[in-house]
Amino acid sequence: MTLAWTRRRVLGLIAAAPAAALPRTARATGARVVIVGGGFGGSATAREIKRLAPEIQVTLVALDRTFVCCPGSNAVIGGFGRIEDQTVGYDALVREGIAVVTGKADAVDTSSRKVRLTDRTVLPYEKLVLSPGIGFHWDEVEGVSAATVRKVPHAWQAGEQTVQLRRQLEAMRDGGVFALVAPVGPLRCPPAVGERVSLVAHYFKTAKPRSKIVVFDAKSKFALQDLFEEAWADLYPGMIEYRLAESEGIVRAIDPENRIVSTDFDDVTADVINFIPRQRAADIALASGAADETGWCPVDPATFASSRLPHVHVIGDAAFVPPLPKAAATAVSVADTCAKAVVRDLTGAATADPRWHAGCFSLAAPRHGFEASTDFRLSDGRIAVDEATMRRTLVGASVDARQTGADKAEQWLRGIMDKVWG
Ligand SMILES: Cc1cc2nc3c(=O)[nH]c(=O)nc-3n(C[C@H](O)[C@H](O)[C@H](O)COP(=O)(O)OP(=O)(O)OC[C@H]3O[C@@H](n4cnc5c(N)ncnc54)[C@H](O)[C@@H]3O)c2cc1C
Repeated sequence: MTLAWTRRRVLGLIAAAPAAALPRTARATGARVVIVGGGFGGSATAREIKRLAPEIQVTLVALDRTFVCCPGSNAVIGGFGRIEDQTVGYDALVREGIAVVTGKADAVDTSSRKVRLTDRTVLPYEKLVLSPGIGFHWDEVEGVSAATVRKVPHAWQAGEQTVQLRRQLEAMRDGGVFALVAPVGPLRCPPAVGERVSLVAHYFKTAKPRSKIVVFDAKSKFALQDLFEEAWADLYPGMIEYRLAESEGIVRAIDPENRIVSTDFDDVTADVINFIPRQRAADIALASGAADETGWCPVDPATFASSRLPHVHVIGDAAFVPPLPKAAATAVSVADTCAKAVVRDLTGAATADPRWHAGCFSLAAPRHGFEASTDFRLSDGRIAVDEATMRRTLVGASVDARQTGADKAEQWLRGIMDKVWG
């Protein structure tokens, strides 16, 4: 892609970068890494590159001055978490010498190695890391689009929509219906669907006990199904109707005004609708050419270098690297691999064989949690599950084990937020 880069904009950006935050050696060597996306993957990569090679100039492009974390956001929707506790800033990264630029990347010129932002700022790079997260397929269910999210939020990117969904649930009458529409994969954090259903059910149980939840899931089974079903039978008997596409058909249309969900077989009137669209990599991944026809970005799993674009790496949810789950835990683990590969390319430092960890904790209630964690390794150029490291809570776990699961979920969340932004 050829862009009309202007000298004024390039120079303008250099002037805008906090020169005092850059160590003297960085200005001397001049190797520049630009990272797009100030969420889990991007922020963790920025920190790790700076830690490994302080002389590299690292610029992080973040959409806003703060970032709202998805892990833990279901507790906000369930009424026992606070959005403030989910919100982080970039002060620690700036103190470490990372230039944090607030803006939105809208184009990449891979031949001249420059990223352009929507305000026409231009960022030159030697290496570019894309960690922009997800975008949505809006054209598959009639009646809903990006323009209807105020009425029908997805809340699959945390922030304003998380709060809005919570407010809709608070305003709902006792005896009302909450409809959640879930897509086929690949999707960001599959167990978060069961967790959201659980934590809304927890709220209803405590505040609106006559209410019902109807889930329309386009899949034929769902993540951690046995553990969630056991918890629901125990904690919320009769409250949740979970319709799987195989037997119940799929959702064809949603009427946001009259709050009607239409499936292959019937219409269901709801009081609150949470429609989660099918997902793909975020827009910049498509605009840059890093994504292929699947909507996701193919990469070399040893380095997370893009298979399509030179000097570009793609990490986090935007990358297509099964069986790694699309999770914050993996994004941060993969950030490490990517940072090492970038530093190796720029400085010649040696790297070891990568390993990745996906620690996954879900809540069925504030004091009822479970774990499904595992490590992954590289095997013949592909990512493979390391069976020996699998830890999964079993059906029939004791009350103590469930409490421990909930405690571990909280510890994991505060630990990873601290590692990335603290
Ligand atoms: C309800 C819910 C619960 C979850 N719970 C867990 C959990 O318990 N454990 C877990 O491991 N994972 C969990 N996840 C998944 C986790 O949030 C994601 O996997 C993780 O955020 C992916 O990191 P990322 O860096 O790819 O994307 P993100 O963290 O989303 O960061 C991407 C950032 O880039 C920004 N961006 C996009 N385009 C541009 C652009 N053009 N220019 C500048 N910035 C841009 C985005 O706005 C965003 O701020 C959950 C997800 C949901 C929805």
